[in-house]
Amino acid sequence: MPTYEYKCEKCGQFEEFQRMSDEPLSRCPKCGSPVRRLISKNVGIIFKGSGFYVTDHRSEDYKQKARSDNKGTSSVNSLDATGS
Ligand SMILES: [Zn+2]
Repeated sequence: MPTYEYKCEKCGQFEEFQRMSDEPLSRCPKCGSPVRRLISKNVGIIFKGSGFYVTDHRSEDYKQKARSDNKGTSSVNSLDATGS
């Protein structure tokens, strides 16, 4: 579960555990003052890092698979053509 950081005008900065689907807090649970949500450092790093890594890995894997698939298909096709 991600931790969101909020900044209250009166209490200062605090953290709140919330689900992704939960509405962001608009008021401080302690004093009721308006709060601003800060971007959590941890969540940002994990999201960016794993996302980029997975995308890179997948595309590279996909390219290699596509290449071998093409080679296999074309060689089979040419064999078929010569056979018949
Ligand atoms: Zn407050």
